[in-house]
Amino acid sequence: MKPPPTYAIMREMIETNLASKLKDGLPAELVGFMQTAGELAAGRGQSLYLVGGMVRDLLLGKPNLDLDLVVEGDAVELARELAGLKAARITTHPRFRTAKLTWASFSVDFTSARSESYARPGALPTVEPGSLESDLFRRDFTINAMAVSLDASRYGALIDHYGGQSDLEQRLIRVLHERSFVDDATRIWRGLRYEQRLDFHLEEATLNWLKRDIPRLDTISGDRLRYELECVFREAQPEKTLCRADELGVLTKLHPALAADGWLVDRFRLARRLSLPHPPSFALYLALLAYRLSGEECGELTSSLKLSKPVARIVRDTATLKAKIKTLSYPEIKPSYVYRLLHGLSPSAIVAGSIATASPVARQRMESYLHKLRYVKPALNGSDLIGVGITPGPRVKELLERLREARLNGKAVSRQDEEVLLKEWLSETT
Ligand code: ATP
Repeated sequence: MKPPPTYAIMREMIETNLASKLKDGLPAELVGFMQTAGELAAGRGQSLYLVGGMVRDLLLGKPNLDLDLVVEGDAVELARELAGLKAARITTHPRFRTAKLTWASFSVDFTSARSESYARPGALPTVEPGSLESDLFRRDFTINAMAVSLDASRYGALIDHYGGQSDLEQRLIRVLHERSFVDDATRIWRGLRYEQRLDFHLEEATLNWLKRDIPRLDTISGDRLRYELECVFREAQPEKTLCRADELGVLTKLHPALAADGWLVDRFRLARRLSLPHPPSFALYLALLAYRLSGEECGELTSSLKLSKPVARIVRDTATLKAKIKTLSYPEIKPSYVYRLLHGLSPSAIVAGSIATASPVARQRMESYLHKLRYVKPALNGSDLIGVGITPGPRVKELLERLREARLNGKAVSRQDEEVLLKEWLSETT
């Protein structure tokens, strides 16, 4: 008698079909779009596939609306035809043979199946047209290297050359080959992100190769590293990825003085609570991550990550603010002094400082500045002052500042109060 087939062999014999998961898991509009796209592709003699994160998330039953479609052939022409049908906006990159369609609240990426090779570690890959199989082989992890056929004759069939489905079941993050992190060390960050987001584990060999290849992160440009950090900060709980990165020695590749520990976990959680209903911005998370760095170290991080000017300013201002926290926590300082200490610093830096500080008094003052003090202005303006005979020039500015201080410290609460004060000051100087 023949032995019963093993589970793995049985799986190969029974094709997994995701048609009903597509129907149940996605808006009817997108399902209809994929069916039409599959038919149009077939009419052009092309095969069309759904690939990447959406396939992974369909199998996991997690919501995902990012359609990534791969065409065996030229994706741009197919995308153009579909754009006409849907009256969708299209952007194309003919050199990379990719296109993006957007309509209503939907967006769909089209790429032409390709194979990639790496001239040297860390370089961007050399791309050539390829088959679906080679396109899947260039991908980062088995769980992201599955496809679903959108051809009418095989609609919904799962294509899983590298064991992605089995890795999903075993909750494993596994690269497709030993040189994966050598080819592209940004996959190190991607791997940690998926591991922490999905609550999976890095498969043993993958973890060993990842550790071996951590030095390869030095070959990655600042722009690409910043992008990876942006992706980490878009996670629901970025601190989990950062702690894991710290544990493995990946975080210190961004800057040797960075640390992710209980302090950071608490600060990130607080940042999320305070930012509701929105998630915290990239700049806020980064300012908190960089909070314990010295001013000089912040400067190094800013230039190595090629931060944009506004984000760099927030990180720099947070470092400046940190030096003022001690003064801000003195019990006896007046609101006008709080104003002077904080005026000119970016509000996001002050939010970061208020989350990061251990001093409740300093925190309360920063909050008061953000919600109240920074908006305080005198009722009288420059024209009013000139109207009572003050010569236009620096004296006007100085008196307006004194009036603001009086308002801040509660010495004036009305326009009338300001007029009385002004008279007093003018009589003192005449
Ligand atoms: P997420 O849920 O994080 O958006 P995703 O899988 O959709 O996950 P993307 O960054 O949008 O991730 O990338 C789409 C797909 O492209 C991935 O699923 C993966 O197959 C492939 N990919 C992206 N970046 C890389 C990379 N650096 N190396 C190899 N493959 C990659």
